[in-house]
Amino acid sequence: MPLTAPRVPSPASHETGGPSIWPRSTRPEHSGDVTVAGVSLAETAGRFGTPVYVLDEEEVRERCRTYRTAFPEADVVYAAKAFLCRAMVHWAQEEGMGLDVCSAGELMLAVTTGFPPEKIVLHGNAKSPEDLSTAVRLGVGRIVVDSASEIARLAAIVPHGSRQQVMLRVVPGIAAGGHVKVRTGTEDQKFGLSITDGSAQHAVARVLGQPRLELVGLHCHIGSQITTVKPYVAAVRRMVGLMARIREQHGVELPQLNIGGGHGIAYRPGEESLDVPQLAARVRAELRDGCAKVKLPVPRLTIEPGRAVVGPAGICVYRVLAVKRTGSQTFVAVDGGMSDNPRPALYGVRYAPRLIGRHSTAEPRLVTVVGRHCEAGDILAEEVPLPEDVHPGDLLAVPVAGAYHLSMASGYNLVGRPPVVAVKDGTARTLVRRESLDDMNRRDVGL
Ligand SMILES: *Cc1c(COP(=O)(O)O)cnc(C)c1O
Repeated sequence: MPLTAPRVPSPASHETGGPSIWPRSTRPEHSGDVTVAGVSLAETAGRFGTPVYVLDEEEVRERCRTYRTAFPEADVVYAAKAFLCRAMVHWAQEEGMGLDVCSAGELMLAVTTGFPPEKIVLHGNAKSPEDLSTAVRLGVGRIVVDSASEIARLAAIVPHGSRQQVMLRVVPGIAAGGHVKVRTGTEDQKFGLSITDGSAQHAVARVLGQPRLELVGLHCHIGSQITTVKPYVAAVRRMVGLMARIREQHGVELPQLNIGGGHGIAYRPGEESLDVPQLAARVRAELRDGCAKVKLPVPRLTIEPGRAVVGPAGICVYRVLAVKRTGSQTFVAVDGGMSDNPRPALYGVRYAPRLIGRHSTAEPRLVTVVGRHCEAGDILAEEVPLPEDVHPGDLLAVPVAGAYHLSMASGYNLVGRPPVVAVKDGTARTLVRRESLDDMNRRDVGL
């Protein structure tokens, strides 16, 4: 189970069971500091300032390899929206991954970094004219059509004499995912075309009727932060059923099936993560048996992990700015929060920060770790055991910070987005620099 990291001496003394929530290279030091890939987190905070996002390059690469090993027969496509920068594009390419993008912006970043466009998949429930024209112009491999109106719009911009490969995003009618806001496999949300009301079947006919579009397969993405294999197996069964009906109606056997991403990871000690090799084995078996039953050739599989590739490879280091004791509660406020990590405010998720950079013999006390922003919901963690003597100037490290933090970061309170520092073999290097007040002021051009 390569995604469940070996139990390195855990830097969080209260960790119990489940996969480690720290990168495999994490080592606690006697000083109370923690090193990742041989780099001290406290020194990194001193050198680059706080908040700082630290990304363990080898952990990202190993996670890519885990997927490639588990799914040798499939296209493994990294979902760029989880975290994207030029270095990440290189790593994905070097590890043999494809790339899944949701906008002309993500697409341009990837292609101008040298990523082969034919290995890119474009998604989106509402693609702008610019998204579509950029994708066609750059020669994106596959475009996943998400609505009926997109079909004619797309066909109209494909140049005469060429054909664009498309897939259709289908709603398989499966509820799965860590939070209602990340469930995308059911009828009552904005993504995809329904099988039950016939819109998926209708769209199949429409695409087949467009000579400049080539329908290569079906796509589904049932949600995110899913920790069990079962919903994926169920989705495969529904999709194979639909593929069989498409053959009956239109006489075409679709050569590809994309079952999206959404693979869950542990954010706190004791939480579960999705077992990737088990997912591969069960999906492969269902696909083989399901296709055999209806005498369909087994389609080529695509999977699109985002969070599980990069989430556990990232750590955010904050500095404590204030400690406030109010009645029964202690609030420990840090120098970042919902502007660099909106997940707690969006989904109510909680993290497991720990003190780094000094050794404390003080008794642990349960505290609430909050951000610096002007929202009461700017809460990073509740009931966190931190030493009683935690004080302003201390450093807190938050593990599992690699996915859906900076990619969702905002300009709230004009705090500026933190830098991303890659660590590898004892050295740290900046991937993305800190956003300065000057960067923000430059956009403000009116008076
Ligand atoms: C977001 C998304 C993914 C990746 O989801 P994770 O939870 O990060 O694995 C994959 N495919 C599609 C279509 C998505 O929208």
